[in-house]
Amino acid sequence: MEDSYKHRGLRRKLINTIRSKGIHDEAVLTAMNKVPRHFFFDNAFLEHAYQDKAFPIGQGQTISQPYTVAFQTMLLAVKPGDKVLEIGTGSGYQACILLELVAEVYTIEYNKVLYEKTRKFLPKIGYKPHFKHGDGSLGWPEHAPYDGIVVTAGAPAVPEALKQQLAIGGRLVIPVGSTDRQRMVRITRTAENEYQTREYDYFAFVPLLGKQGWK
Ligand code: SAM
Repeated sequence: MEDSYKHRGLRRKLINTIRSKGIHDEAVLTAMNKVPRHFFFDNAFLEHAYQDKAFPIGQGQTISQPYTVAFQTMLLAVKPGDKVLEIGTGSGYQACILLELVAEVYTIEYNKVLYEKTRKFLPKIGYKPHFKHGDGSLGWPEHAPYDGIVVTAGAPAVPEALKQQLAIGGRLVIPVGSTDRQRMVRITRTAENEYQTREYDYFAFVPLLGKQGWK
């Protein structure tokens, strides 16, 4: 797999597009500039890799729109050394962005086919998160607490299990709403039993399945 001069140029343009849409977190933009998004596309669809759009990855799922990845990562406000949990591994693209920013990434995927595919693929391009196949709506309690938890599928409500798995000061970024559209929500755990919630714009994600999802 090649990351050519042309690919790097297209990626820089994409980063400028995301910046022009209001993402000014330079650490996030730098991380996104490092990960070759075209590696996540079949050869036939390469021209879609550097457009600011979601794209099908099979199994009825999508690789999120780059702007959305940037927005969620910005809200997560992670720093080197943090431990982060991602719900919805999908293609693995978001996990790679997180690995560019923090030391340890845990990622859970519900769909067995995608889980198998991405678990094999990411190490081949040099990214090594901890993978799990299962219901991420319940989190991954064995490795809690997390400094950041990002949910990349739309939830009907905020799963209590995920709040419980945040470190004090940790942030949970999750789209919450109907199956058509969801509001991005950031919950910060400010003390053992205290959480602060902030709401942002609307997005459209595939549904979060599982016990605390759409079942
Ligand atoms: N983060 C992904 C990426 O960078 O490609 C995009 C993920 S896609 C928008 C949402 C993913 O969430 C799908 O792969 C879907 O199978 C997964 N998903 C849905 N419900 C889940 C659950 N309860 N636990 C874990 N993964 C789930």
